[in-house]
Amino acid sequence: MSYVNEVYEMLQKKHPYEAEFLEAAKRILDSLTPIVDANEDLYRRNALLERFVEPERIVSFRVPWTDDQGKNHVNLGYRVQFNSAIGPYKGGLRFHPTVNQSILKFLGMEQILKNSLTGLPIGGGKGGADFDPHGRSDAEVMRFCQSFMTELYKYIGKDVDVPAGDIGVGGREVAYLYGQYKRITNLYEGVLTGKGLSFGGSLARPEATGYGLIYITEEMLRAAGEELKGKSVVVSGSGNVAQYAIQKAQERGALVLSCSDSDGFIYDPDGIKLDLLFEIKQKRRGRIREYAEKAPRSEYHAGEKPWSVKCDIALPCATQNEINGEDAKKLLKNGCTVVAEGANMPSDEEAIDAYLAAKILYMPAKAANAGGVAVSALEMSQNSERLSWSFEEVDSRLKDIMVNIYRNVSAASEKYAHKGNFVIGANVAGFEKVAAAMLAQGLV
Ligand code: NDP
Repeated sequence: MSYVNEVYEMLQKKHPYEAEFLEAAKRILDSLTPIVDANEDLYRRNALLERFVEPERIVSFRVPWTDDQGKNHVNLGYRVQFNSAIGPYKGGLRFHPTVNQSILKFLGMEQILKNSLTGLPIGGGKGGADFDPHGRSDAEVMRFCQSFMTELYKYIGKDVDVPAGDIGVGGREVAYLYGQYKRITNLYEGVLTGKGLSFGGSLARPEATGYGLIYITEEMLRAAGEELKGKSVVVSGSGNVAQYAIQKAQERGALVLSCSDSDGFIYDPDGIKLDLLFEIKQKRRGRIREYAEKAPRSEYHAGEKPWSVKCDIALPCATQNEINGEDAKKLLKNGCTVVAEGANMPSDEEAIDAYLAAKILYMPAKAANAGGVAVSALEMSQNSERLSWSFEEVDSRLKDIMVNIYRNVSAASEKYAHKGNFVIGANVAGFEKVAAAMLAQGLV
């Protein structure tokens, strides 16, 4: 049996109840087969894969808190410290009722490879709690964050583990968590990223994921002898990633035809009007259907996704599994030749198979949306030197990072699969550096 399959079978026996983690581990291990086969003796001797698939440490703890009515609750909190071979653990905290150890292990394993791809010294981790912030008052969210940090602070630190936000953990939560960490430890250090600008946050962090997505898309097009200018682009979502992807794509001369939310999508043949989008989403936290009321030639399609709109480029920036096999077929039939993922896991397996079979340019999320965590790592650097860089400096470093990610992913695809298979390219390019560091550091 191949080494990859042996390790996967071992995982199945050890963690039979962790369905999400097993699925992710299988996908990643399968895509690593070419590099594992090429180094099998070395990797086996060093139990490299057995170590790669097990977190270095998992902390789980109860989080007791009291709601505004005086009722007591107990949630479960976690931090999965997956891999610190190339830097301190780094990855978001998710507050959502579906959070469990299996999901956090799956997200943590992905994070190891994404963080490695940035070329910056950050290891992989993920954490969170099965707490639902929806409908909770600020005071309740603050008490929950304070209770969560009262346990978590023991295991994190600027050189140990630097969490950030994720679903359900935005600027408000990061700020409450940071306040409690500082209060308990008496340390003013960059222990969290995604902080407010007044207490150590980085300029260009809100823009980073969307801008980074466009920078890597441009690089992918350039390598194929094309450019973004003049291309038609379909974007899904209208949140943080979508807004800044639309802004940068328009700056580069593309025509962005759509945006969406979970209720439906907007089609604007003249191009999405950014001022209007910002006014609805950033000023009023409104719904995307309001756009059509103010932009006369635009159309609102309730309950639909934008994948039937004819375009050259699709940028899914909303949520997981938003493009299924049928959607992918529609995109391809209408002439779409580029898909780059701003959201995490927006394409399901059938959709990915369809892109690969059609040999279009497909950049998976791990590489395409790494700009967010890259600028988080730049926030860590600024905190360490107690300086704040200008917007231009952060943005220019982000651009260099995305161009490098493209080059490394492309080179790895050529070496281990065929040029253009960026799924294998991204996993292998991320893994190579982690594997080299793990081998050099011995059996730890
Ligand atoms: P936001 O919450 O700001 O925006 C999410 C957008 O997606 C909203 O427009 C939301 O609409 C829409 N959406 C959510 N669920 C659905 C659904 N089921 N169908 C259609 N649309 C939906 O999140 P972000 O922009 O920050 O994140 C978007 C994606 O990018 C996520 O997958 C996230 O994990 C990923 N990501 C984000 C990074 C970042 O730096 N922000 C970094 C790397 C990845 P509605 O308002 O109706 O919910």
